[in-house]
Amino acid sequence: MAAQAATWSQLTVDPGTGAPLAISRRRYTPTAAMRRFLGARDATCRFPGCDKPGAATEADHTTEWSQGGTTDTDNLALLCRQHHRLKTLGHWKARQISTAESPSLPGTLEWTAPSGRKYVTYPDADLPPPF
Ligand SMILES: [Zn+2]
Repeated sequence: MAAQAATWSQLTVDPGTGAPLAISRRRYTPTAAMRRFLGARDATCRFPGCDKPGAATEADHTTEWSQGGTTDTDNLALLCRQHHRLKTLGHWKARQISTAESPSLPGTLEWTAPSGRKYVTYPDADLPPPF
């Protein structure tokens, strides 16, 4: 079967869970396994206050592919078409803060509104502790 494969893509997986994590810049589009992982992690659009279900979202590169962003789950988040467009047009800005500032909550996003006000959204599968 391996000899008949047309192409190979390296896929980095979590050694403990087997969750697909990264294919870097070898491919723009996340694999089906990565998309399923994002669906489980994010569940809905990750824009502040939006609850469109994951099935109605697109996988967005938080750091845009054209700006050197990678196709890794720590650089991807689910956004509905409307909010994907707001981010792409630069009206709202987002960055993943989980890897640098909160390694225990991968997929945590910090959003900056046009007013400069900041909002944080958390992945569905790993909610923050109560305050
Ligand atoms: Zn949305």
